[in-house]
Amino acid sequence: MELRKDYILSRFVILASGRKERPRDFSKEAELKHAKICYFCPGNEKMTPKEIGRVPKGKGWEVRWFENKFPAVEPKGKARIRADGSFHALSDAYGYHEIIVDTPSHSKQLWDLNNTQIEKLFCVYMDRIRELSAKKNVKHVAVFKNYGRDAGTSLIHSHTQVAALGIVPPYIKEKNDAVEKFRRCPYCDIMSIERKSSRLCYENDSMIAFAPFASRFNYEVWVFPKRHVTGLSEFSKKEMEDLGRIMKKILAKLKRLGISYNYCLQYSRDLHFHIEVLPRAEKWGGFEYSSGIIINSVYPENAAKFYRGYSKGH
Ligand SMILES: [Zn+2]
Ligand SMILES: [Zn+2]
Repeated sequence: MELRKDYILSRFVILASGRKERPRDFSKEAELKHAKICYFCPGNEKMTPKEIGRVPKGKGWEVRWFENKFPAVEPKGKARIRADGSFHALSDAYGYHEIIVDTPSHSKQLWDLNNTQIEKLFCVYMDRIRELSAKKNVKHVAVFKNYGRDAGTSLIHSHTQVAALGIVPPYIKEKNDAVEKFRRCPYCDIMSIERKSSRLCYENDSMIAFAPFASRFNYEVWVFPKRHVTGLSEFSKKEMEDLGRIMKKILAKLKRLGISYNYCLQYSRDLHFHIEVLPRAEKWGGFEYSSGIIINSVYPENAAKFYRGYSKGH
């Protein structure tokens, strides 16, 4: 067993392999129930909140986005945090919360789409970030995906969420603060080290994917563009293609594991853009909540082996 610290954050994990190391031990994600009427499906467009945009295909669409029917934040009230006495700080939950339907197909998950379709979806992310960032009082646009019950979704039709927030989220701020302590981008250096390590999962011309040294989740992977870019809008066409390709490879492996996952885009100011892919095989218990230290039963070195496909048993 090993206690490991995150590259730059004060965050610790304990790697305790054994019990659940082999993917075949994961129980298959319980099938999400098919809703009788799916309002993400083509033909039911009238049932969603007002459409914001779509990528047209023929008479229909390939990707479509609209306001979230059950938003966590909304553009009402005041975004500014105010103090109410010495210990109470609050604001209205200000922002914009949107749903992007990834594909018109009800039966396909993101891992069933090809790399070009995945690339197109990331182009939509770029569009949403650009548009929502320009809105008044928006400090950050979070883009994340939940797949499966253990990752926080109950709707089977593949979709992504976008939440434009009135604050910079604490996790992003923590990364910004940590990065600022270095004279040059630490992630550029981390990438060149991990590229030569046993934690490398995949690499193509412009992208790299590795299992982070202090992985919190079984089979956690981080995806970085090799060039120091701070957002999707700086990606070249080739980089977008390479991103689609590397995400497809990761997702194909996640399909084999058959587990819930989240992924989220990480970017802000001069933070080196990256994507955290977080499979959700294990639940956090008292140890995690009481100490903030996370126990992960899969060493990232073994996770990387699984992604690279070297390990037959996996
Ligand atoms: Zn559907
Ligand atoms: Zn960098």
